[in-house]
Order: sequence, then C-alpha cells, then structure tokens
Amino acid sequence: TYVIAEPCVDVMDRACVEECPVDCIYEGGRSLYIHPDECIDCGACEPVCPVEAIFYDGDVPAEWVVFIDDNARFFHTA
Ligand code: SF4
Repeated sequence: TYVIAEPCVDVMDRACVEECPVDCIYEGGRSLYIHPDECIDCGACEPVCPVEAIFYDGDVPAEWVVFIDDNARFFHTA
C-alpha cells in the first residue's frame, strides 16, 4: 500500500485525491490518509503530491515509518 507521511500534516493539498482511480484517499482533521485495504498500489498519487508526502510502504523514510500504522489506525484496520 501507499502511505501519506508527515509533509501532508496541515497541508492537505488534495491533488492526490483527484488522481486516485479507486478513491481510497480520505480526509482526516490535519492530514489525508490512504486506506491500506483499498489502495491498489498504482502509484498515481505519489508524483502529484506537491510536498512529496506519499511513499510506497516499503520506501517510507525511517523517521516516518510510524505513519504506516497511523494510516491503518485511521481506518481501524490496525
Ligand atoms: Fe490511490 Fe493508486 Fe495512490 Fe493507492 S497508489 S492511494 S490506488 S492513487
């Protein structure tokens, strides 16, 4: 799955929402979140994020690995 990390917090540009073919990017209070069970790993969202907040879960920078669980917890899947 793809994951949205720290740079999205309080930014929420939403360019990714437009791009996602399965509409699996949802709005939280301060960040957008990708539903881990709905994401089809197409990668379309990653390059359109103006703050480079989106990563494939295997490529999340070490300091933001916690965001993998944060995204899942938002949907109560972790
Ligand atoms: Fe949507 Fe594709 Fe991004 Fe997953 S990788 S959130 S399916 S645009």
